Amino acid sequence: MSVVGRSLRALARSWQQRSVQIASLGALALVLAFSAVVPFERSPERSARAERAPQRTLSEPPARRIVGPEKLPAPSPADAETTAVLAVGKAVGPIRHGGGARHMVALTFDDGPGPFTGPLLAVLRRTNTPATFFQVGRNLDENPLPARATTLLDEVELADHTYTHNSLVTMDFGKQQDEIVSSAATMQAHGEAAPRLFRPPYGAYNQDTLRLMNERGMAMILWSVDSEDYTRPGVDRIVDNVMKAVKPGSIILMHDGGGERSQTVAAVAKIIKRLRGRGYGLVTVPELLLKDPPQKADQEVAVVPPGAGEGAG
Ligand SMILES: [Zn+2]
Repeated sequence: MSVVGRSLRALARSWQQRSVQIASLGALALVLAFSAVVPFERSPERSARAERAPQRTLSEPPARRIVGPEKLPAPSPADAETTAVLAVGKAVGPIRHGGGARHMVALTFDDGPGPFTGPLLAVLRRTNTPATFFQVGRNLDENPLPARATTLLDEVELADHTYTHNSLVTMDFGKQQDEIVSSAATMQAHGEAAPRLFRPPYGAYNQDTLRLMNERGMAMILWSVDSEDYTRPGVDRIVDNVMKAVKPGSIILMHDGGGERSQTVAAVAKIIKRLRGRGYGLVTVPELLLKDPPQKADQEVAVVPPGAGEGAG
């Protein structure tokens, strides 16, 4: 409680003690006078509701229709990674890569879970590789088994990629909020933690999306290396796309859902081996933000300009 609040409470208490008799008499007189002109309408239901209703302030936004629960539990601020995610997300806005000061990169997988999530998880577990998954809520509902297996990885970050995977830039604020909140609620319904990261489908976002990130305390994660695995160009081409572009701090875009991903699964094993061969440490995105925090000014223009992406993301 604030100092002002405490002082007011103390003042109220002393006033109460000194003037309890006067107040009682005054209140009685007031009640009698009032009841003479206005008949009492005592609805216990209404008065109970009035007591429970929180005080609205002018700055409070109007209530909006949402699909999921309005309030999700906030991620625990106790751990260092969450603190880093919140701080970097707020300071930088959309994040495309880490700071580049450490020899570490983050593999990210979008659009799952799906039939190829299981085989991909087998590669990640066999090679003891941390990864970040941007899950589509609807796919999570349709593929609960791979989703549960995802949580068994030693180091995994499960993140929000909307419920329906439609482009957000065609939606108003309320619809965008529906997409993000519904997906987050779905993740929690499947036993996952409240997501701290969000990636917009196709990398497409606008000011409403940025406002939602701020309001919800989430960081928007884009990417700096596009494997182009969604075009299914062949395993070696996917590997080359990553290895040619990768540098310290890279956030690498791949897909475990949204189509046939056997090339991705095969390519990931090779990419992990070659990245480690070049001395790169593989980390989740929150670990990257904690250990190699990016600067706002260093965020290069997105590989796919916002709103223009067709398949990526
Ligand atoms: Zn996507």
